[in-house]
Amino acid sequence: MSSMKGKRLKSSKSYSADRMWKPDIFLHPAEFKPTRGAVNGGASSSPAQHCAYCAGEPVIYNPYSSQHLCEKHFCEGVERRFKLTIRTHKMLSKNDHIGIALSGGKDSSVMLHLFRMLSKSLPLKLTAITIDEGIKGYRPHTLAVAKKEAKRLRVPLIVSSFEKEYGFSLDRAVAVSKKAALPCSFCGVFRRHLLNRAAKKAGVKKLAIGHNLDDMAQTFLMNVFRNDTAHISRMMAFEGAPANRGFVPRIRPLMDIPEKEIALYSVLKGIPIHFQQCPYATTALRQKVRDMLNSFEDSQPGTKIRVAKSALEISRLLPAASAASLRECKECGEPSSSEYCMACRMVEGLREKMGRAKHAGIGKSEKMGKAPKARQRKK
Ligand SMILES: [Zn+2]
Ligand SMILES: [Zn+2]
Repeated sequence: MSSMKGKRLKSSKSYSADRMWKPDIFLHPAEFKPTRGAVNGGASSSPAQHCAYCAGEPVIYNPYSSQHLCEKHFCEGVERRFKLTIRTHKMLSKNDHIGIALSGGKDSSVMLHLFRMLSKSLPLKLTAITIDEGIKGYRPHTLAVAKKEAKRLRVPLIVSSFEKEYGFSLDRAVAVSKKAALPCSFCGVFRRHLLNRAAKKAGVKKLAIGHNLDDMAQTFLMNVFRNDTAHISRMMAFEGAPANRGFVPRIRPLMDIPEKEIALYSVLKGIPIHFQQCPYATTALRQKVRDMLNSFEDSQPGTKIRVAKSALEISRLLPAASAASLRECKECGEPSSSEYCMACRMVEGLREKMGRAKHAGIGKSEKMGKAPKARQRKK
């Protein structure tokens, strides 16, 4: 096994990142006809020497399927799973307009490429949407990657920023808020808020989120640990869901592909991506769950697939979170379960803190967005 590990590393390393993307692989996917018997003939007893489907040199070994795969068959497998997930969950309809949440990271960049390939054989309209949270030393670079890729693939890109929409950057919000665990929680709320708004504005019918298999398994277990069954019931709510009270339905076409495979696919296809993590990184719980899942996957290959499958099945059994009680937020018009939506309430709270910080002479002077209505209303 250890010799294979070395081989794998060597193989991946030998692929240069400037390889061009080859859409023809996707347009004419060769149906898999396992040729293991045919090519195994003179080989040694070790099955590790070539791809499970051809005599090619493997670029990866997948313990969960006990298969070595060459570049061609690995990439075709990723593309096939992407299409199969879309088909199984009826994620697309005819002449759909898909909004692609593009962060510039590996998952969303690979998703953009896969959708671009699909749009060559299906009548699909694509619009990429990037949220600029205002994270110094991180976002400018990923934003540049997103812009360059969208331009290269000729997919229109919309950039919506915290600064423009709320009047402050995430960095500024973090600076005035004292709770250490907060960045991800309010960043997540704000990003969802702006993505939905931008998607509606662009006339997008579905919003594609680049969550991979690891993300799905982690999210599910985190919800179990928190006993957040309402969230679990919403995890798969996208299936065939119509636009619901102001929510653009979300689809997750990468949810059956492990993170590691998306990373390898991006390298093999020469998709320029940015592997740097957000400096606020993930919450402590997610990191722990990620480590735990990776450790289980090592000892019991296929764990992530089974956990994500459980998420899907359990979410189907739970009563769907009701949208009946939703109304329009009085401030922004987005769907909300109370008078003001969570994002607007958080924005208001942060603006108050920023105002106080400013009076006390703390913090950088940053242009504050106008929020007349939000400021007038009483708590
Ligand atoms: Zn092969
Ligand atoms: Zn609102």
